Parts: sequence; C-alpha cells; structure tokens
Amino acid sequence: MTQNPQYTQSAPWGLPELFRRSLRVLGRTALLLVVFDCSEDPQKNLVNVEPPPEGYPLSYLYEASNSNTLVRWTAQGADPAINIHVAVDDIDVPAGFNSSFWANVIPAKLDMWLDVLRQDGHDVTTNISYQSKTGPPPADSGAVLHIKFQDKFDSRVAGTTAIDIVQINRCFTSETVTLALRDSNGTTYPQFITSTVLLHELGHALGIFATSGQTAHSPDSSDIMFPTININQNGLSAADRQTIRHLYSMTPRYRSCATAPLAKPTTYIVAAGYRPKD
Ligand SMILES: [Zn+2]
Repeated sequence: MTQNPQYTQSAPWGLPELFRRSLRVLGRTALLLVVFDCSEDPQKNLVNVEPPPEGYPLSYLYEASNSNTLVRWTAQGADPAINIHVAVDDIDVPAGFNSSFWANVIPAKLDMWLDVLRQDGHDVTTNISYQSKTGPPPADSGAVLHIKFQDKFDSRVAGTTAIDIVQINRCFTSETVTLALRDSNGTTYPQFITSTVLLHELGHALGIFATSGQTAHSPDSSDIMFPTININQNGLSAADRQTIRHLYSMTPRYRSCATAPLAKPTTYIVAAGYRPKD
C-alpha cells in the first residue's frame, strides 16, 4: 500500500511558537504521555500560510502546515457540497474488534470536526460504508478515506494517517487511518483512548497534515492535534475548531481527486503516539 513513506511528525517547538503559546499553556495541568523527537530544523516551521488568520487567532495551522503542503477535502464540479466517502474495513480486523462500537464512534467523531465546518456554512456530507456490507469501494471512485484496524504497532504509536497524493494532479486519491486496539506490549487500550486517537487521526485526514517540513500537529498539549494523546482531552479545543475553520477557508494545494488519476501516488504518513502514564 505504501510507497516512499515519509514520516513527518515531530515535536513542533520553535521558540517563537513556544513564546506565542506560552500564555495559553500557562496554568494548565496536562497529563502528557509521550514526547517525540525534537530534532527537526526550526527553520522549517517558518510561517507562510496566507492570508493571516485575522478571524482565527488561535489557529495553529501555521505550525502544522503551509501553503505548499495544504491538503483538504473539496467540492467537485458544480456541486458545492463537500462529500467525504469513508470506507471502514470491518472484515480484516484484530481480535476484540467491536463492530457496533465503531459504527457509533466513527460517525460521531467525524461529526465533531464536520459540525464546526457546518456551523461556518460549509455543506459537508459523509458517505460511510462498511466492507462487510458493501465490499471495498470501486477503484475508479474519487478520493476515499479508509479506516482500518490492527492489533498493535511495534512502537508507542496508537494510530497513523497516510495520504496518497498524486503530485501532478495536485490531488489525493486515498487516505488511510489505521488504529491499533492494543499497545506494543499487547495490552488492550480502553475504548476512550482508541476513540480519542480516532478523533486525532481524523483531524489529519481532514487536512491538518503536511507533506514536508511542517509538523502536522499543534504545539499545545491541550489541543487534540498535539502529537501525543492527553488522556484529559477527548474533544476539540477552541484552537482545534479555529484551525479546521481556518483550513477550510483556504484554497488547498492538494484537493480530493474526483476520479482515479493515471499517475502513481506518493504516500505521506503522520503518526500519533500514546502510552499509559508511568
Ligand atoms: Zn498526529
């Protein structure tokens, strides 16, 4: 499935961001569970998303992405609606997979993000299909968000999002959110953890993402898009809401493909981590 995977996550601690965020972070007691590698060149975090977010002062889109990597779902043709086709693989699943739980959680977590956009007047619809009922989506369909499950990752990762982008068409054909039901030691995650990881990964799938340079994450641990999961955070913060609104106010570099392009896509991956408190 993945060619040329490029791991783009890292901790986004440029000094200007740290200073700008310090007032928001001050006084909060967050239970932070994992810290990722901080070695990324801070010059890569330079701001170049345009225009400035006058209406979205809390947006962290600057830190997460930039104009050259901006990805989001778009309307197709004359239809002003943004239609998101979600295909859930509920057949190739690990032991303990609870289909009725996920059939409730997947639309609920999607709507947590999409209702923010709907409140801004975006016409966003979802078409969620389950492989056990419909089979896999046809190969010539437009962009599809796949959600699949596996037993565990080999590291402290609980979920990943991969986006297959066709550079020449400036669109993405496919996205894959992969969720682990157990940690790397084989201990089953509580359901609220896996559902919170899903909420985080859906933020990536909706476009809080970067194909190069930027972090694809929030620098603030109180946001759902911080690169590690805070067990006190199971919803969207004000900054998460403003960031998705900011993103969908902009023209993306990479749109959702209307049909399958002929060229081969390149896969870009971001990962989120989680481990229990020591
Ligand atoms: Zn992430």
